[in-house]
Amino acid sequence: HALSLVQETPYRWRLDPIDAMRVPGVVFATEALLPAMTDDRSLDQVANVATLPGIVTASYAMPDVHWGYGFPIGGVAATDVDAGGVISPGGVGFDISCGVRLLVSPLQRDELQHQLTALMDDLDRNIPRGAGPGGIWRLVGGLAELEEVLRGGSRFAVERGHGVARDLEHCEDRGAVDDADPRQVSARAHQRGLSQVGSLGSGNHFLEVQYVDETYDQAAADAFGLRVGQVCVMIHSGSRGLGHQVCTDHLKAMLTAMPRHGISVPDKQLACAPVQSPEGRAYLGAMSAAANYGRANRQLLTEATRRAFERAVGTGELDLLYDVSHNLAKLERHTVDGRERQLCVHRKGATRALPPHHPELPCDLTEHGQPVLVPGSMGTASYVLAGNVEGDAFHSACHGAGRVMSRHAALRSVDGRALKQQLEKAGIAVRGTSARGLAEEAPASYKDVNEVVGTCERAGLARRVARLRPLGVVKG
Ligand code: 5GP
Ligand code: MN
Ligand code: MN
Repeated sequence: HALSLVQETPYRWRLDPIDAMRVPGVVFATEALLPAMTDDRSLDQVANVATLPGIVTASYAMPDVHWGYGFPIGGVAATDVDAGGVISPGGVGFDISCGVRLLVSPLQRDELQHQLTALMDDLDRNIPRGAGPGGIWRLVGGLAELEEVLRGGSRFAVERGHGVARDLEHCEDRGAVDDADPRQVSARAHQRGLSQVGSLGSGNHFLEVQYVDETYDQAAADAFGLRVGQVCVMIHSGSRGLGHQVCTDHLKAMLTAMPRHGISVPDKQLACAPVQSPEGRAYLGAMSAAANYGRANRQLLTEATRRAFERAVGTGELDLLYDVSHNLAKLERHTVDGRERQLCVHRKGATRALPPHHPELPCDLTEHGQPVLVPGSMGTASYVLAGNVEGDAFHSACHGAGRVMSRHAALRSVDGRALKQQLEKAGIAVRGTSARGLAEEAPASYKDVNEVVGTCERAGLARRVARLRPLGVVKG
């Protein structure tokens, strides 16, 4: 049986169920975005996800969707916890709770002009990255202190003086997920986590100094503190080796447990277990612990950025607008077919986009909905969106522009050194670890972020609040 795409609106397509699909696929895309999705087989992955036990409503693809491990990156799927619904590590990804935060400076772009080089050099020296260890916080307390990171996330980092209470108000989950269970995090994962907290990671991760280039929803932009010309900092990082190891360990455990639960999947990368099974609960506990590690990590990178601003610009004042992950499974309540249910919502390369007045939003943002942070690339725009009252896909939106060119292909067609020169000429300061790394992350590797974000807006997933442009990028 072959999949066929049925157009529902100019921005929304349906994959009717075939074979073992339990629900349809729903793809948010324009005609222009479709070819990349069909070329890389990510729509086959959307269909595969639709076969998971307990899945409700649809298997969704965001406009930035591309091929990933089991689930596509840019995939959203929710399962009914009380009806045998499963949780799947492939639906979260290897970089558990990878996410983005945006810091807003009181400075205008022209006030930074003369110090930008000094600032970028300072960040270059002081933001630990690549495959190596973190440098901001040595866990001198060893494993016991790591346990506290796994339980407390950003809250623990702030308790230890790395940040202010206001930061936590502006984090998803107020900085920490509740159901973390460090006992489900293996010794190997602990080992990998000991030295890396407070480090950016490699490749796609970055810290970018940006300015607000344009605003759209003026009331929301005002409430978010985003005025045209305003300087801000976007940080994209995750849970490093610890999260990766958690994913590896639990994929393996689920693969062996699947026959016991009578589950078969079309692709073993979709290994999963019922949320309420021992394997499901173990993964949920370990994933939450890794998520907290990722949040503490971004909190530490924030403090390092504030110190760099203090030294180079004279003010370390950087207010956190929001911190949100784009690789996570969460237990949430949603109404499905007229009944409120407990769902396990997987967002992999997709961002939660809560509507205005949702109880989880900080008071000062509640009128406008949750900020959705969408990086584009180091040479193009990035966006701040906000969640809508209606929304779709269990209140989710895109997480980036999305890759169109594999790292390999980018390496073959882009010269990292030339790219750096080109960016510098365009006024974007580049502090990378290698020419190779830069080539892999070339703006041409990604889709057109304007098209992706425009599609989200027109499909009603989230609306545009502000467009940001890069002044300087520190690449992992
Ligand atoms: P991912 O989490 O899937 O690795 O990346 C999320 C998104 O970040 C990508 O889809 C891409 O659009 C964006 N991105 C990657 N590198 C950069 C960068 O250096 N700067 C900005 N602003 N965005 C980037
Ligand atoms: Mn990541
Ligand atoms: Mn990411």
